[in-house]
Amino acid sequence: MLDPLLFGEIDPPQRLLMGPGPVNAHPRVLRAMSADLLGQFDPEMTAYMNQVMALYRPIFGTGNRWTMLVDGTARAGIEAALVSLIQPGETALVVNFGRFGLLLQEILTRIGARFETVDAPWGQVVPMEAIRYAALRVRPALICSVHGDTSTTMAQPLDGLGAIAREVGALTYIDATATIGGMEIAADRWGVDVITGGLQKCLGGPSGSAPITISDAAAEKIFARRHDEKGIRSPDAVDGHGPRIGSNYFDLAMVMDYWSEKRLNHHTEATSMLYGARECARVALGEGLEARYRRHRAAGVAMSAGLRAMGLTLFGDDAHRMTNVTGVYIPDGVDGEAIRRAMREHFEIEIGTAFGPLAGRIWRIGAMGYNAMKHKVLITLAALEACLNAQGFNLPMGAAVPAALSAWDDAQ
Ligand SMILES: *Cc1c(COP(=O)(O)O)cnc(C)c1O
Repeated sequence: MLDPLLFGEIDPPQRLLMGPGPVNAHPRVLRAMSADLLGQFDPEMTAYMNQVMALYRPIFGTGNRWTMLVDGTARAGIEAALVSLIQPGETALVVNFGRFGLLLQEILTRIGARFETVDAPWGQVVPMEAIRYAALRVRPALICSVHGDTSTTMAQPLDGLGAIAREVGALTYIDATATIGGMEIAADRWGVDVITGGLQKCLGGPSGSAPITISDAAAEKIFARRHDEKGIRSPDAVDGHGPRIGSNYFDLAMVMDYWSEKRLNHHTEATSMLYGARECARVALGEGLEARYRRHRAAGVAMSAGLRAMGLTLFGDDAHRMTNVTGVYIPDGVDGEAIRRAMREHFEIEIGTAFGPLAGRIWRIGAMGYNAMKHKVLITLAALEACLNAQGFNLPMGAAVPAALSAWDDAQ
């Protein structure tokens, strides 16, 4: 006998996810994902794959031919990019200003690449001049950075990065998981070679697919390391090129062959995730990217204004905030986890905790994708105010919502 309590139908509560991601998926995305499955070489399926390539080019701000999906969460995209772009023994330069900069370093270490970092303290970004000096000193084969690092809620400016990379003969890689679909991604204008993302933040989908764009220059380096027909090659440079890519699943040369006209068999494309990723892009482009970025900006500005009206202090450099997630100090004497619990139990709202040096010191409150909406920002602020008040924190009651409302309207 099945215990109905252990094996009940999945029926999650209707939570409003206002943390740093994941967020609630757009209903159209969930509907698209329930469509029937196709074989991976079915002409309808390969047509959907080609449509996905076309739909993600504007979202990445690029004309790159190689614009597609890596199957897996955003981290799969990061790992595929790094393992394919850099060879053991080569040196990378990591622009490091938060937890996801540390992740880049960890993956580079596993690959056997060398790296140096150019750093900013958590809550700040790295000045472009500092990146340039570091690049001239290190002469890296690859410069990599996060765009919006959700751990600190800071967005690294990237205009000019491509010019620096060309000056030193490096390729560039950006993790834009937290910003894609919410803040402008401009692969071609930035002159950046490879960018990866995820669905579960500003694109308003579930996690499990990693959109990627790859410049021709990066593709050339990746293909030069390619496997032979049997997928095997001598482990080290035999023909003037570097060792073959140290992963089968994340070998972007093989993934590109599968997404190309050749349709060489590799993995089985994750059909339902592809439907979801395709619908995320259609929703974003249907709204219009400019309008979408404006909506995220309005949500961020409104959230910030509401939090400040409560008497709270925001974390980090005002000039470089991500628009879609806001860090705020937990006030002295307030139990941050008890507030998060009360938000969840009384209001069905989730806000984010923090990592590392910021654990227990800040909350991270997001307004991303389908949740970057005026009413969701206002409800979150009203709930936070009520929970702080119930815990005995002295704050001006009723100030947050009007402040947020007028900030939203000003920002639109
Ligand atoms: C959320 C986030 C990720 C998450 O990766 P997953 O594998 O999808 O969990 C990666 N990078 C950044 C900058 C993020 O904000």
